[in-house]
Amino acid sequence: MQSEDTPSEAPRRNLVGLSREALAAEMAKFGVEPFRARQLWHWIYHRGATDFAAMTSLAKPLRDKLAAQYVLNRPAISRALNSVDGTRKWLLRFADGEEVETVHIPEEDRGTLCVSSQVGCTLTCSFCHTGTQRLVRNLGSEEIVGQVMVARDALGEWPSPQDDRQVTNIVLMGMGEPLYNYENVATALKIIMDPEGLSISRRKITLSTSGVVPMIRRCGAELAVNLAISLHAVRDDIRDRLVPLNRKYPIAALLDACRSYPRATNARRITFEYVMLKGINDSPSDARELVQLLVGIPAKVNLIPFNPWPGAPFECSSDAAIKAFSDIVFAAGYSAPVRTPRGRDILAACGQLKSASVRLRRGERLAVPAA
Ligand code: SAH
Ligand code: SF4
Repeated sequence: MQSEDTPSEAPRRNLVGLSREALAAEMAKFGVEPFRARQLWHWIYHRGATDFAAMTSLAKPLRDKLAAQYVLNRPAISRALNSVDGTRKWLLRFADGEEVETVHIPEEDRGTLCVSSQVGCTLTCSFCHTGTQRLVRNLGSEEIVGQVMVARDALGEWPSPQDDRQVTNIVLMGMGEPLYNYENVATALKIIMDPEGLSISRRKITLSTSGVVPMIRRCGAELAVNLAISLHAVRDDIRDRLVPLNRKYPIAALLDACRSYPRATNARRITFEYVMLKGINDSPSDARELVQLLVGIPAKVNLIPFNPWPGAPFECSSDAAIKAFSDIVFAAGYSAPVRTPRGRDILAACGQLKSASVRLRRGERLAVPAA
């Protein structure tokens, strides 16, 4: 037992992940003026400081006081993998031992960081590896922002560079359904977009959702980032089997939400993701129905070849089927690129993310309704 005169060590609070307002309020508690709080913000998110001692524009007594009460924690890297194609994947571990994956995909004109929003996912889409993970919890805003900061650390990108960045774009397409963790995702994205912070413009950020209709409106009004919809099927009976959330929010309701998404102009089109599953959703008539559905929506279509994972109950469509599908969508006036799978050798491609520490639930995984 602790004796009464031993001061108990209160855990130091992590300042990473607090909104600007919350950080200012935290600092005001012990008399730090707003402009100092702003300097602190700059150190954390522009300079990437991990240690208060490095914050030379703050007086030494203040630095000491901060260090006694707070930490600037990132998630720990428990494994880093590099693909032959340059893709990098980090398995990150949080304080409670849970893990998620973050992937960096370098391309000629950009570098995209694929960020996770939850440990696992409650939604069990039948073609997605993440949906087979048993444990699910929301990530805190610090755990979402922390993924970007870890990538910046690993890529040597501090202070936040103006040009020649390796992380130019962010996609919320890792593990989890971001609109099921809206508050924390929103706080994190505001930090990521802050021009005095991580400074990645909303035009370079894309949030992908399996179709949480009521939250799409809020996301548009408050964040106005680019939207991607995991459509994957053009008829409710098929989509019900692929994306079970469709039973709650069917295709018509989902497309209505897209039509009223505030930034759905031609310059900022909504991306419709469509995973190509052999014999399930990949026929020419599916493609023709797809273009009918999209009428009136500024849209582009992203065809994703199905990425297999051990025990997956689907096969990827043939190259010829994908090409034929893409041609039909393209002829109707929509761009329809086929997403080149990246990082397949390190299980970093779409739908392959799942921390290595978790085993597949064999029985449940195979209990997928037949096509
Ligand atoms: N939960 C969100 C975001 C993460 S998934 C969503 O579903 O939109 C990112 C994309 O990868 C989604 O379009 C998802 O449907 C797709 N995906 C999942 N598993 C896949 C797989 N095995 N092969 C190809 N794409 C997959
Ligand atoms: Fe969750 Fe998206 Fe995977 Fe569906 S596709 S299980 S919503 S992560």
